[in-house]
Amino acid sequence: MNYCPTCGTKLITKIDGIDGETPYCDTCKKFVYPTFNSAISTIILNPAMDHILLIEQYQSKANILVAGYVMKGEEDITTLKREIKEEVDLNITGFYFNDCAYYKKTNTLLHNYIVVTDSMDYHLTNEVDEATWFPLDQAKEMIKPHSLAEHFLLEALKKIPHLSKEDFSTDFSERIY
Ligand SMILES: [Zn+2]
Repeated sequence: MNYCPTCGTKLITKIDGIDGETPYCDTCKKFVYPTFNSAISTIILNPAMDHILLIEQYQSKANILVAGYVMKGEEDITTLKREIKEEVDLNITGFYFNDCAYYKKTNTLLHNYIVVTDSMDYHLTNEVDEATWFPLDQAKEMIKPHSLAEHFLLEALKKIPHLSKEDFSTDFSERIY
């Protein structure tokens, strides 16, 4: 970021006591922190926790994960519930944090969660071309190779055998202050 998004002044760098060298607007007299997007992506497990739902989108045959941007005013869990409903029309009973990664191409911090649904009866929406429940070991073979989705899936597959339903959080209340 080179210019102040509020007034357009060229930014200088100043030491912020906590964060070190930080862009600063000498007109607004304030620090300007770099902005980035936030998104969720999710490993969707069936109620028996032995199948994972992968989707195809945008006329591509690659199997990927349900994902979406966190809208302003939402927190992760709100986005998780909303995206899963919007894309495959399923409800979730619990969620478990899996991993996160920064994706340079879209300047996005992605938070990946493992979730459990209350049914295998998904419905395709206009955002999704195809969806398939794969047994855990098959999902590993079917996920888009060398993708961030594959990375999240491999991480999740290390955890899933050690997880029981009680390990999943069921507190869906929003924490917005
Ligand atoms: Zn300014």
